[in-house]
Amino acid sequence: MQDFDAIVIGSGIGGLVASAMLARYGKRVLACESHAIPGGAAHSFTLRGFHFDSGPSFYCGLTDAQSLNPLRQVLDILEEPIAAIAYDPLGHYHFPEGTLPVYADAKKYLDAVAKFSPQGAQELQKFQQKLLVLYEALRGIPVVALRSDWQLIPVLLTRYWPSLLKMLPVAGAIAGSAGDLMDLDVRDVWVRRLIDLESFLLSGLKAGETVAPEIAFMIGERSHSTVDYPVGGSGAIVDALVRGLRRWGGELRLGTHVDRILVSSGKVTGIRLRNGEIITAPIVISNATIWDTYTKLLQPEDLPASYRQQAIATPAVDSFMHLHLGIKADGLEKLTGHHVVVRDSNTDITVPGNTCMISIPTVWDQTLAPPGHHAIHAYTLEPYAGWVRDESYQEKKRERAQSLFQALAKIIPDLRERIVLESIGTPLTHARFLRRDRGTYGPAIAAGKGTFPGPQTPIGGLYRVGDSTMPGIGVPAVAASGILCANTLVSPQETARFL
Ligand SMILES: Cc1cc2nc3c(=O)[nH]c(=O)nc-3n(C[C@H](O)[C@H](O)[C@H](O)COP(=O)(O)OP(=O)(O)OC[C@H]3O[C@@H](n4cnc5c(N)ncnc54)[C@H](O)[C@@H]3O)c2cc1C
Repeated sequence: MQDFDAIVIGSGIGGLVASAMLARYGKRVLACESHAIPGGAAHSFTLRGFHFDSGPSFYCGLTDAQSLNPLRQVLDILEEPIAAIAYDPLGHYHFPEGTLPVYADAKKYLDAVAKFSPQGAQELQKFQQKLLVLYEALRGIPVVALRSDWQLIPVLLTRYWPSLLKMLPVAGAIAGSAGDLMDLDVRDVWVRRLIDLESFLLSGLKAGETVAPEIAFMIGERSHSTVDYPVGGSGAIVDALVRGLRRWGGELRLGTHVDRILVSSGKVTGIRLRNGEIITAPIVISNATIWDTYTKLLQPEDLPASYRQQAIATPAVDSFMHLHLGIKADGLEKLTGHHVVVRDSNTDITVPGNTCMISIPTVWDQTLAPPGHHAIHAYTLEPYAGWVRDESYQEKKRERAQSLFQALAKIIPDLRERIVLESIGTPLTHARFLRRDRGTYGPAIAAGKGTFPGPQTPIGGLYRVGDSTMPGIGVPAVAASGILCANTLVSPQETARFL
């Protein structure tokens, strides 16, 4: 008798979804999280009465039954709905040449784009129509029905053959990049940069390197579902998943760092914690990144050398500079929640510091800050290399955060006089608090040049979930990875109970 049926290492959204779904399927599950707070990149933390998101703030379909968001489907299965606040415009993109409001309503959005480029708006419409066809085709097969082994084929052929037929005409587009679709219709340079920007915000890569279904999902959800923010912040999503895990009999241990995945004769036997405790299970699922799993949690001899080498050579997107601010809110009644500031039009959008993302969730949920205040999270890409905690660290930290302060000043010109709380995070902070190799956003796997690996590994009983597995980076994607993994570990009949 082993201690558990399955052990999940890490409580990021991918790990929580996998563990909660397995608990829902009746498995004895233990999730071990290194940190004191669950949620990984999606965790919330509190400083002097301000509740901050550490990473994601942009969500969709949390309260819409029609949404394709796999996270929403999991919350339904766990019977843990959450409250969320829908909003529109979804955000504002600030370019040196002007500000573009981004509306969910497709017509309003195209009208706004037409103010910058009338021809470009027409081309964008054609591009978006192609993406919506893709979105409609994807709609026919819910992610909660999918799995990652040969048994997927009979499931698709018996239950979903009409939807499969619908997908045939767009099969090429599903396998291609958003850039391939853009090249068909969009010549306008300004709109091409806009599409690159929207792709970059999702995948960390431009349109030519971002898979088309990812952009189709975003465009489809924002025009056909809702864009909404969870009441209580990102942590409310994490809390709902943790409640779901526990409600169905699973266990979560916080402050429990896993040192080693134990392997014997090519199969996992369990894990060893940092305190030396050994816990056994025939299934271990790692929510740590591909690099952390294969270099820190396993011994080199546990994996075939060429497989290991190839896996850890996966290119990585950079890390981040973060700025978490508490500010006085008086006079800011018209403030909106999401902003992207592109500081220089002649510099590539992917260059660290040039594109700054800003979220002010207190615009929707005022309980996230003390009365009369806003909580702000701003971040921009920053390479990990070159960061060391030496005597110049504090100075470099302030210097590299300037792009974020300058971007914020575009939205709140008297920002500096309003600040009551300031916390700057570097790639070292990101790597430390999220336990992510080099503090990376995730794998930089360009469309057409490779695919995100599925949950299986060469080691019997060892699986992986999260943003270095299929389908990739982002909360909906990692929720899908957790579903794929959990479903693969049970029979299609068990999965069918929840469809
Ligand atoms: C700044 C930022 C903004 C983002 N914005 C958005 C957004 O608006 N919308 C969106 O959809 N996505 C967004 N994302 C992406 C999204 O947040 C991530 O892709 C997703 O949350 C990653 O989830 P994951 O399951 O891969 O695991 P992670 O979040 O990486 O979690 C892995 C967990 O495993 C734990 N762990 C690792 N090693 C061990 C060990 N040895 N023992 C025990 N525990 C361990 C870690 O502590 C961590 O909790 C953003 C990401 C960032 C960084």
